[in-house]
Amino acid sequence: MAHQVIRVGGVSEQTEQTQSGVVIVGAGMAGVQTAVALREQGYTGPVTLLGAEPHQPYDRPPLSKAVLLGKAEDSAFDVDFEALGIGLRLGVEVTGLRADVREVDTEAGPLPYDVLVLATGARPLTLPGSDGVPGVHLLRTLDDAARLRPVLAEAPPVVVVGAGWIGAEFATAAREAGCAVTVVEAAERVLAGAVPAEVAEPMGNWYAEAGAELLTGARVASVEEGRVHLADGRTLEAGAVVVGIGARPATDWLAGSGVELGPDGSVTADARLRTSVPGVYAVGDCASFPSARYGERLLVHHWDNALQGPRVVAANIVAQDAAETGPYDPVPYFWSEQFGRFVQYAGHHGGAEEMVWRGDPAGASWSVCWLRGGALVAVLAVGRPRDLAQGRRLIEAGTALSPAAVSDPEIPLKSASA
Ligand SMILES: Cc1cc2nc3c(=O)[nH]c(=O)nc-3n(C[C@H](O)[C@H](O)[C@H](O)COP(=O)(O)OP(=O)(O)OC[C@H]3O[C@@H](n4cnc5c(N)ncnc54)[C@H](O)[C@@H]3O)c2cc1C
Repeated sequence: MAHQVIRVGGVSEQTEQTQSGVVIVGAGMAGVQTAVALREQGYTGPVTLLGAEPHQPYDRPPLSKAVLLGKAEDSAFDVDFEALGIGLRLGVEVTGLRADVREVDTEAGPLPYDVLVLATGARPLTLPGSDGVPGVHLLRTLDDAARLRPVLAEAPPVVVVGAGWIGAEFATAAREAGCAVTVVEAAERVLAGAVPAEVAEPMGNWYAEAGAELLTGARVASVEEGRVHLADGRTLEAGAVVVGIGARPATDWLAGSGVELGPDGSVTADARLRTSVPGVYAVGDCASFPSARYGERLLVHHWDNALQGPRVVAANIVAQDAAETGPYDPVPYFWSEQFGRFVQYAGHHGGAEEMVWRGDPAGASWSVCWLRGGALVAVLAVGRPRDLAQGRRLIEAGTALSPAAVSDPEIPLKSASA
């Protein structure tokens, strides 16, 4: 360890530190963006980025789209880590945090830090009893996508477990590859945790349109090689099974570290993305944060959150938590490409009082707007990117809208003020 003395932010006591600098655990979108944002914002101390995966850091959204279908080789980030002076260490899993001595443990030994950023993302949930069964896949990593690519190229019948965002995107790719696709969903509808039943209904119809069979209210009882057995006695033949039933923050390694976790496994960060331990921040899929905008704690598992959060973490580190850096309170945003449609969502509709349709949900493009106290709080747009872009700005501004004007898809949202 070097012994040049520097000062770094995010350290409550603000004592002089030895030159360990900022250590970031997790080299996904949030970790990489934090490292880059630190340099962009003028941080000159050492930055070390530790990633468990052996691959050059990469973007995940293409894994269920172009990379899966072989239309793109990989999705590595275009970042010159060396030129930015970022110490990238790949294939290094961090196994523990000893906050009292400001060190993390890795298989290669302990590593000191002055400021630590937790960016370990999320791990997909697995289907009980399916571990090690040949032909059962998850879709989270580049390795997962690389394993699935040759499978799709052979176009076997596939069973997708879970009709959420990943399940829909994988079903889309599998249909495009020519597979017979059956999607098994335990809830009575698609996207059960994400959108209300009225909105899920037209989206559920996209499966049949694309030639995929959707079985809702269907529970998997067991899986064996080549077959999925449902609780109602049905058996589905499956050359491959893809499980997309959600993800949980990858925070097990923090047990006993003193970093406070919520019941959902997320690091419960504060409004500046600081954890309960001084000098330790958390960002991306592994962290939840209090949203004053929505009056509740949010755990967001989407790309834009792993882009925006790091800028706030970096600003707080550089400014040493000075008041002017402000809280992290974004209008959450994500997109999904499924069944030939571009779906975008901004905001958070929990707590909305009114839902207004724009256009015919049976048609190719439509939107749904959610209002609270007359103001737009969330918008879901299918093939209507202008609604999304304008809606996002209106949500940020808290502008009151006229429901009658909102319901007319010919009136631009930005002209629908009350
Ligand atoms: C297939 C797929 C498609 C997606 N498509 C979309 C989309 O269309 N739109 C959208 O908005 N979002 C999409 N997402 C979500 C988006 O990719 C995530 O929100 C984003 O990747 C989160 O970034 P992150 O850095 O927080 O976590 P991650 O990307 O999960 O990165 C965390 C990294 O930390 C590493 N790590 C974990 N534990 C340790 C440890 N103990 N030590 C060292 N390293 C560790 C992991 O190996 C991983 O590389 C998609 C996700 C997936 C999986």
